[in-house]
Amino acid sequence: MYAEVLIEYKVKSLDRSFTYEVPERLRDIIQVGMKVSVPFGNGDSLINGFVTNLKYDSNLGNLKKIVDITDTELVLNEELMKLGQYLSDTTLCTLISAYQTMLPSSLKIKTIQSNFQKYETYLKLKMPKEFIKSYLTELKGKNQIELLQVLLETEKVLKKDFSPSTVKTLLNKGLIEEEKVSTYRIDREDVKDSKKITLTVDQQNCYDEVVANLHVANTYLLHGVTGSGKTEVYMHLIEKVVKSSKCAIMLVPEITLSMQIVNNFYRRFGSDVAILHSALSQGEKYDEYLKIMRGDAHIIVGTRSAIFAPIKHLGIIIIDEEQSESYKQDNTPRYNAIDIAKWRSDYHKIPLVLGSATPTFETYARSLKGVYKLLTLPKRVNDAKLPVVKVVDMAEEAKCRSMVLSRYLKERLQERLEAQEQSILLLNRRGFGTLVSCSACGYTFKCPNCDITLTFHKSSNALRCHYCGYFLKKPALCPECKMPEIKDAGLGTEKLEEQLHKIYPEARIVRMDADTTSKKGSHEKIIQDFKEEKYDILLGTQMISKGLDFPKVTLVGVISADASLNIPDFRSGERTFALLSQVAGRAGRSGLESEVVIQTYNPDNFTIKMVEVGTFLKNYQYEMSIRKKLKYPPYFYLVGIKVCSKVYEDASIEATKVYQHLKATIDTESIILGPTTAGVFRINSIYRFQLVIKYRHDEKLVDALKQIDAMFINHKTVYLEIDMNPYYI
Ligand code: ADP
Ligand code: ZN
Repeated sequence: MYAEVLIEYKVKSLDRSFTYEVPERLRDIIQVGMKVSVPFGNGDSLINGFVTNLKYDSNLGNLKKIVDITDTELVLNEELMKLGQYLSDTTLCTLISAYQTMLPSSLKIKTIQSNFQKYETYLKLKMPKEFIKSYLTELKGKNQIELLQVLLETEKVLKKDFSPSTVKTLLNKGLIEEEKVSTYRIDREDVKDSKKITLTVDQQNCYDEVVANLHVANTYLLHGVTGSGKTEVYMHLIEKVVKSSKCAIMLVPEITLSMQIVNNFYRRFGSDVAILHSALSQGEKYDEYLKIMRGDAHIIVGTRSAIFAPIKHLGIIIIDEEQSESYKQDNTPRYNAIDIAKWRSDYHKIPLVLGSATPTFETYARSLKGVYKLLTLPKRVNDAKLPVVKVVDMAEEAKCRSMVLSRYLKERLQERLEAQEQSILLLNRRGFGTLVSCSACGYTFKCPNCDITLTFHKSSNALRCHYCGYFLKKPALCPECKMPEIKDAGLGTEKLEEQLHKIYPEARIVRMDADTTSKKGSHEKIIQDFKEEKYDILLGTQMISKGLDFPKVTLVGVISADASLNIPDFRSGERTFALLSQVAGRAGRSGLESEVVIQTYNPDNFTIKMVEVGTFLKNYQYEMSIRKKLKYPPYFYLVGIKVCSKVYEDASIEATKVYQHLKATIDTESIILGPTTAGVFRINSIYRFQLVIKYRHDEKLVDALKQIDAMFINHKTVYLEIDMNPYYI
C-alpha cells in the first residue's frame, strides 16, 4: 500500500505530494486526510504531511516509509480536503498552508504527539459487591473502609480525591482498579437556562423565513439595528438545527469582544458548546476539536478560523457583525471567512446568516439585488428607543479652550453622574500623547524601523511604536539640541483618563484598551465590573464599540470622530458610519432615555450627518454613487499587491517589473493603479510598494498573478504579498 503525502515544507516549489510506502502496522488505520510523519530529504530528518491519496501500486522504486500517524482522531475529511483546494485556488496560497490553516496548531508540532490527550483517572471496584461487603467487616483502616463504601454506592470516583496511600493499598490488595477516561480541558457543566424568551413578531418573521428553507444554500442578511435582538434569533435558529442532530457554527469578531455572547450560549446550550479562538492554549484547542470530531459538542462558537471546524453534519452557519475586518485574515492565506462560509453552505445545502446593524456595502448591495435574502429588525426590543445623536463642532469649542471635552459633553457626563447612570467614551488612540517633540528645535520622535511617530505612554514613561513594538525611555533632553524641552501633544486614552479624573474627582473611571487588557482575564474583569456598576465611566478604544450590552448606559461620547474619517481609504465613510453607529448602539439598551455626543472638526461631513439622523440607507446610497464613479467595490473587484523589501531600490525596481508584466498580460479593461508607496511606507524596516488592480471580469488575471508570484519564489531580497479583495488599500 502506498500513500501520497503533501509535506509541510515552506518552499513553494515543493508544494506537491510525494509517494511513501505504508508499513504493515498502519495499513488498517491510515486514511486520506490524516497527518503523518515521514522522512524527507537527505539523512533521516522527519517532517509532517497530509495523506492526499492512498493506492495499491506504484511504479516508483525504492520508496521511503511513513514513520507514524501523528493523530488518528483529527482528520481532514473529504469536504475539508476539497475546501483546502478552493482556498488555495482563490487566495493563491500553497495547498499545504491551506491545510495547515484548517487544523489547530497543536498539530503543526513537528514531533509525533503520542500523549496530547488529557485523561482523568477514576477508581472502581475490581471484585463483586458482595465480596467487598463481607470483606469490609474484617477491614481495620478507616480510610480504606470509607473509599470502599463510596464505591459501593457510586461505582466510580476520581482518583485524585483520595489519599494516594489508601488508593495504593487497595490497588495492591486487588480490591479496586483504575480506569482512564479521556477528558476535556474546558469542561462546562451541563446546566441550561430554563427561562425561554419568546421572540417578538419581527424576530419570529426572520426566524420563520430561515427555518422554511433549512436544506437550501441561501445566504441571508439579518439587518437589525443595535439592540434589536439579533443574538436571540441566532440562538433560536441554532436550537432548531441542533434538535435535528445537526451542528452549527457561529462566528464572532473577536473573542474578548464577544464574551457576553459566548456566555449567553453557554447558559442556553451548556456543554453542547465548543469554543475556538486564538487565546486558547494548545491543549484547550486540541480538546475543543476532539469534542467537535466526536460529536460531543454540536455548537461551535469561535473567531475566523472556526469556520474550518471539522463538522460532518453541518446545519447552519451564522456570522455576527459580518462587516468586521477580523473575518479577513491579513497574512497568508488571505482568506475571508465569509467566502469560506458560502462555500460550506453550498456544499452542505444549508443557510448562511450574516448579521449586522451596519453591513458592508458589498453585502448590502447583494441583499438589495436579491442575491442574498434580506431580513430586517427595524426596532429595538421592548420598545427601547435608539439614542438621540448630538454633533458638537470642536472648532467652536477650541475658541473656548475646551479641547478635549466639549462643554456640552461635560455637562451631560455630570448629569449622568448625578443620576447614577453610566457613560461610555470612545477615543480610538491609546497611549498618552500621540506626538512627542522638542519645543526648542522642533525635533520629532519617530520610529527607527517604521515611518510613523512614537506615542508617549505615561505609565511606563516610554515612547512606543504601535507598529513594531520599538520603545525607548523618554529622554530628559532633546537628542538634537540637548534642551530639556520635550513635550507631548495629541490625545490618547491614557491622557483622557487623567483629564477625566481631574474634571470629575468623585467619578469611578475605568479604561479599556490594548494596554489595560494585555493580561489574561483582565478584559472580562473590566466588563464584569462595569456591568455590576462598580464604575461610572468606561473609556476606551474601539474595543468598547461592539457587542457590549450594559443596561445602565445612557450616554455615549465620541471624543474625536475625525481620526477614522481622515483615513485615506475608499471605505472610510462606510467604516466611520459603522463604528459610530456601533458605539452609539451601546446606549439606552434597556429602555432608558439616552444620548450620543459626537465631537468632530467636520460637523458638515456627510457621514457624520447620516450618523446624526441615523440612516444607514442614505449613507449607503451616497457612498455607492461615489464608488460607482471611482470604480470601487462592489462595482469592481480589487486585488492588492505589495512588493516588499529591506532594500529600497530592489523593491522599487521589482514593483515596476510587476506593473509591466501585469500590463502586458491582464485584460485591457482592467485597471492597474501604482506602484505607489503603501499607506505607511516602511514597517519593521521593510519598504512596501503597492499596486491595485480593479477589474470586473478578467479571465487572464489569475494566471497573471500566479506568474508574478512565481517570479519571486527564489528572489533573495524581495517578496510579494497578493491579496484578493483586500479590506484596506
Ligand atoms: P443585538 O445583537 O441586535 O444588538 P441583542 O441580541 O443583544 O441585540 O438583544 C438586546 C437585548 O434584548 C438583550 O438583552 C436580549 O436579551 C434582549 N432580547 C432580545 N430578544 C428579546 C425578546 N424577544 N424578548 C425580550 N428580550 C429580548
Ligand atoms: Zn516601529
